[in-house]
Amino acid sequence: MARPAVSARRLLNDLDGLAAIGGRPDGGVDRVAGSAEDLRARRWLAERMRARGLVPRTDDTRNVFGHTPNAAGHRLLVGSHTDTVPAGGRLDGAYGVIAALEVLTTLHEHGHPAADALEIVSFWDEEGVQPESSGGMVGSTALCEDPHLAEITGFVELHIEQGPRMELAGQELCVVDGIVGVDRHLIRTVGEPNHAGTTPFPLRRDAGRAMTRAAAAAHDLVQSISDALVGNIGSFTLDPGAPNVIPGAAQMVLELRSPHEDDLTRCAELVLERTRAIAAEEGCSVEHRILSRKPVVAFDESMRTLLEKVCRGTGRPTGALYSYAGHDAGVMSAHVPTAMVFVPSTRGVSHSPDEHTPDQLLTQGAQVLLEAVITHHDHH
Ligand SMILES: [Zn+2]
Repeated sequence: MARPAVSARRLLNDLDGLAAIGGRPDGGVDRVAGSAEDLRARRWLAERMRARGLVPRTDDTRNVFGHTPNAAGHRLLVGSHTDTVPAGGRLDGAYGVIAALEVLTTLHEHGHPAADALEIVSFWDEEGVQPESSGGMVGSTALCEDPHLAEITGFVELHIEQGPRMELAGQELCVVDGIVGVDRHLIRTVGEPNHAGTTPFPLRRDAGRAMTRAAAAAHDLVQSISDALVGNIGSFTLDPGAPNVIPGAAQMVLELRSPHEDDLTRCAELVLERTRAIAAEEGCSVEHRILSRKPVVAFDESMRTLLEKVCRGTGRPTGALYSYAGHDAGVMSAHVPTAMVFVPSTRGVSHSPDEHTPDQLLTQGAQVLLEAVITHHDHH
């Protein structure tokens, strides 16, 4: 049986159709989870499925699934999310959902047996940008507690890289090894608030000065440990925060990401050691609390091997990398064999209206997804 091929025209048309919902004049998309646009996109997706003879289903969490009329029993799940960050791009999440729709449509049209063993999904609230959100991946987390999980034999998510590494390496396809661990540390220095004009320097216990020195040192330490480790100080406060008061306390949140948990632990230890030394020089004390810790996710080896084979089969430049961004696949991976494929992001831009991947690479990625679904079906 000749291998079916995805339709580039239909794939790109569907991407345009979805991007129009919540579309912005600058080419970006506003489709935050739960917004009118997000709900409209979910209805649109279900309508697209019906128009192609597929069966849509929305669960209690508002995940949108789709399958063929004959689907029964165990299924491979393929998909991503259709919600965006505010002023987001047209590809993050949307590409994986539309490619999944294209794969299921193509297999169904061809009467391929893999069609009935496949289910597609747009997960609810992956981005987690609402103030009341618990940090995203809401739909996939709910699915993992739903009886439907027992019918799912694996999960594959196709996604844009959202970084520059593939483009820089000249790679068109990457199998994702896993998702980096993410640790967040709250570090606080405590000194003594006092008059900013009348207090001589030797008598100051300036928690702000201690914290700014510690933050600068932390940036250097992060870069000295390993090329695989990244860190960010994206939250920094001085207390009481007045121009004429020496800060009595200061705090920062240091976020660390690495595929190696050793890097995360070692870096945090070194930063704390250095912060304590600096604080002592400034007459301050240090408090530390781990705010959150997301362990490293390693994707399923047999699923990764399958995807590698399919990617290499294209004859195009292929690689492997760790994702430094979170994905629904990270949640699913704890419960079913899971892996991801990335296509490049032009200039590494993402979560922005300027998100872009050349059409030909989008089509190639969807074809790889189709081949992966067929290969997985042949093996099970
Ligand atoms: Zn995404």
